[in-house]
Amino acid sequence: MINSFKTNFNRDNDKFYWGDETEYTLVNFDNEQKRATLDLEHDYVLKNLGDGKGFEQRCKPNNVSYHPEYGRFMVEATPLKPYDGDKLADFLDVEKNMEIRKKIIVDEIKDVDGEAYNEKHNVVPLAVTSFPTMGVKGFTYKDYEVKGEASHSLFLPDEIINRHVRFPTLTKNIRTRRGQKVALNVPIFPDTNTQSLSKIDVNIPKRNLFFEDNDPFLGAAKPGHIYMDSMGFGMGCSCLQVTMQAANIDESRYLYDTLLPLTPILLSLSAAAPIFKGTLADQDVRWNVISGAVDDRTPIERGVEALKGHKDIGGVSENRRGELQKIRKSRYDSIDQYLGDFNNSLKKYNYFDESYNDLSTEINDKVYERLSKEASGHFDENLARHFAHLFIRDPLVLFSERAKPQDDEYDDDHFQNIQSTNWQTLRFKPPAAYLGEASEINKTPGWRVEFRPLEIQITDFENAAFAVFVILAAKSILKFKPNFYLPISLIDDNMGTAHKRNSLLQDKFWFREKAVFKDHAKESNGFASENHVNCVANGHSTNGHVKANGNGHAIKSTEWSQLTIDEIINGNNQFVGIAPLVKKYLATEEEFTKDPEQTEKLKLYIKLIEKRASGEIPTLATYIRKFVTSHPNYKQDSIVGHDISYDLLSKLRDVGNVKDKDAILELFGKEIGTYLLNRYSN
Ligand code: ADP
Ligand code: MG
Ligand code: MG
Ligand code: MG
Repeated sequence: MINSFKTNFNRDNDKFYWGDETEYTLVNFDNEQKRATLDLEHDYVLKNLGDGKGFEQRCKPNNVSYHPEYGRFMVEATPLKPYDGDKLADFLDVEKNMEIRKKIIVDEIKDVDGEAYNEKHNVVPLAVTSFPTMGVKGFTYKDYEVKGEASHSLFLPDEIINRHVRFPTLTKNIRTRRGQKVALNVPIFPDTNTQSLSKIDVNIPKRNLFFEDNDPFLGAAKPGHIYMDSMGFGMGCSCLQVTMQAANIDESRYLYDTLLPLTPILLSLSAAAPIFKGTLADQDVRWNVISGAVDDRTPIERGVEALKGHKDIGGVSENRRGELQKIRKSRYDSIDQYLGDFNNSLKKYNYFDESYNDLSTEINDKVYERLSKEASGHFDENLARHFAHLFIRDPLVLFSERAKPQDDEYDDDHFQNIQSTNWQTLRFKPPAAYLGEASEINKTPGWRVEFRPLEIQITDFENAAFAVFVILAAKSILKFKPNFYLPISLIDDNMGTAHKRNSLLQDKFWFREKAVFKDHAKESNGFASENHVNCVANGHSTNGHVKANGNGHAIKSTEWSQLTIDEIINGNNQFVGIAPLVKKYLATEEEFTKDPEQTEKLKLYIKLIEKRASGEIPTLATYIRKFVTSHPNYKQDSIVGHDISYDLLSKLRDVGNVKDKDAILELFGKEIGTYLLNRYSN
């Protein structure tokens, strides 16, 4: 990583490339038995489409690439070559590309399965965030005994895990390092007939196979909560991610920091996961489920007492006891610190102030020392802390052929290994250390930022809309240079808020209402000047928020306040709003003004976000919840059985194919709904 900085620190003028990742769940529909199950038998599609004929004939001409994911029932897809963020045509291609991704999977399955694939019985890639009945007896198409060596789960057989050895190994190593199984407790949606919320789930099986089988009864399962005990419950969820490339390191740091306040907002806006393990949850999103699903911290690190029969140092060896520190978060969690928008030519920060990093983040001292003393001077305080923070985690999987001392000149496997098992709301992706065969540095991937909170949506239209919206927001940020900083602890508060049921319409989120834009005052470096920050903050009274910063003195600010997501996205009389900002961007860039008819299509994407934010149309989570609670078989007991799940998934499949008029109009409203129905009817 140090070498990556050496090679790439001064690279500049990289193009704004970007790409998305969509994850699909292979759902087995038995339309005679009216049963929808997770399918573990068709993961051959990944192999068939990964190389050879499948890749050459199906993927390459369509600019599609498939990747393995945690679940054997999961397929991840991306564009083969990234998109150009300065080309309207590329933005317009995304939705079509997403459509083809699913079609290629279906075509491949049809080819292999032949007559076994028919109207009555088939397998469909569905873009659902959480599979409703995962962990409920009979949730897989073929039955597998629940006795997995890797997970020790009471609910999920190991056969749901990707066959590649990396994935069961991750599962096992997280469990053993933690010293007990992961324990996820999601609050149950309390309905009129819901079983006593003061008791733990009555359906937890009593088994006597592994030593921790009794854990749920010793405190691992909490009363009133949906209890889950395995990595698959979280890593089996699907999401939508976008990665974008900045022109240089300074721009990537500014982009990362400025996108950070948007992460909880977009999590709430994209909420799509109201059901876990056959039970309606009192939350709408997946995030904390995945977070808990890979939480490998020992009891000491979590700051709790070990369950009876378990060690407080988990599976870490006794001679490392002294090293174990309290760690506030799981390795899958929200960002702990800003990178700081350092400007290397002016040798100062543009907007960043140390007081914004007001969470006490744990660091790996050795890594911190090494980086901050690095002779190149490339690692300022914030960069050193960023990487030192990633290295508080132990590696989770080491393949023996890779464990030998690496040639740091060419190889950043060690860093990539830690980086790829720190799953946070954003990922700062430095370029590779080694340029390989590339003749010019700009031909290799540069300084990138990955945006990771979004839940996957059911239609290609929505997924394209969210991906495009985030990218256009990023482009607008780079053009108008807003200052969105607020103390990072407030972003964490927002992350908690985003987990509340229907937070989108019922809660408020901290935001820098008086964000300043460079338009207001131009300094030589293109950022707004400090003075102007104060001018713009007028007499409007806000919820002045007092935070203690690292030095112990309190900073009071009138610049941030609590806003509804409607205000953040659509604006209010203080804050312009992200959607108007994006529209201003489209109206002031030649690429988007020269063909208004085509640009109109992008505006529909923005409209989807605007209408969701204002509550005019529901989130997918709200839609799914309503479907369940108004289903004739639903008994107001929070339970979603296989029968309701089949009807729900069939409905979602039809919505995904834009085939169900009433549902489309309910989910998208008249304007967007009618557009979609017309567009997909021919
Ligand atoms: P990961 O799972 O580690 O995030 P993936 O390869 O699955 O990585 O996805 C990375 C995304 O980044 C893809 O959508 C890809 O198209 C996109 N991408 C690839 N190269 C670049 C680049 N140079 N700049 C921006 N995005 C890129
Ligand atoms: Mg990926
Ligand atoms: Mg993925
Ligand atoms: Mg990714």
